Amino acid sequence: MSSLRLSLPLSVPRISLLQSRRYSSCDFSRFFPSCYPGEKLQRGCRRLQSFLEMEQFWIAGSIDKNKALVEHLQQYGKLRSDKVAKIMETIDRALFVKKEYPPYVDSPMPIGYNATISAPHMHALCLELLKDHLQPGMHALDVGSGSGYLTACFALMVGPEGRAVGIEHIPELVAASIENVKRSAAAPLLEKGSLSLHVADGRDGWPEAAPYDAIHVGAAAPEIPKALLDQLKPGGRMVIPVGHYFQDLQVIDKKLDGSITSRNVTGVRYVPLTSRSAQLQNY
Ligand code: SAH
Repeated sequence: MSSLRLSLPLSVPRISLLQSRRYSSCDFSRFFPSCYPGEKLQRGCRRLQSFLEMEQFWIAGSIDKNKALVEHLQQYGKLRSDKVAKIMETIDRALFVKKEYPPYVDSPMPIGYNATISAPHMHALCLELLKDHLQPGMHALDVGSGSGYLTACFALMVGPEGRAVGIEHIPELVAASIENVKRSAAAPLLEKGSLSLHVADGRDGWPEAAPYDAIHVGAAAPEIPKALLDQLKPGGRMVIPVGHYFQDLQVIDKKLDGSITSRNVTGVRYVPLTSRSAQLQNY
């Protein structure tokens, strides 16, 4: 396994590997635990194989690395629909990841202020779960919008006649996310106003553009905030991680009669949906 360690490109900061172990739904520790140290690659550890494939993207200097990332997610069944694949190809992840971190690795990366941009496979999963509620003209709310990546994807999916609203409680992250979006394929939608990013407490939702066909929450809530349930349209869907240390990604559907159903999709590890001061004090 030492050969694996040596083969890591220098551009991968060791600190980020360690930091990303704290909060992630698929961090580097998930590549390693079952095959580290001393166990053989031949054991067929798919994650390790997948990691090595990603490494080739960096070394090969592929012209379209974002496309290669999307193909990688498709190959491993993380991305199933052409619709979501096309959106993730169109929004280049590198524009939303800080320069010092590798953007095309399937891992969360720090964006500052004790927050991370989620791993690509989690973006893919949430987009897949919400895609039918992100049709042209629909309204989408992204709570804990962080880097702005998913808000930009939502905006492209709902189009100029729809609304994509990102809410983030760290003003510096909102400012950075606006700059990220301006460099992306979603820039015209930001300019037109169908995409907007706001500084606010996401637990209160964003009543101005409610009700929402789709609500995504990018941070783990101890319980589902009532304001978000209230702002979900009948027929709409919310995807939200719920829990403290152990969290479940839940899909909440509001039926046309207003009744609510929920199901757990998978265990995850997100940063908490909390107050700004708690977050800045490192929870
Ligand atoms: N989907 C984002 C995830 C960012 S991490 C991305 O991929 O970039 C979760 C984000 O939730 C962090 O940026 C954090 O600052 C934000 N957050 C946490 N609690 C919040 C709250 N109460 N209101 C708004 N944003 C919150």
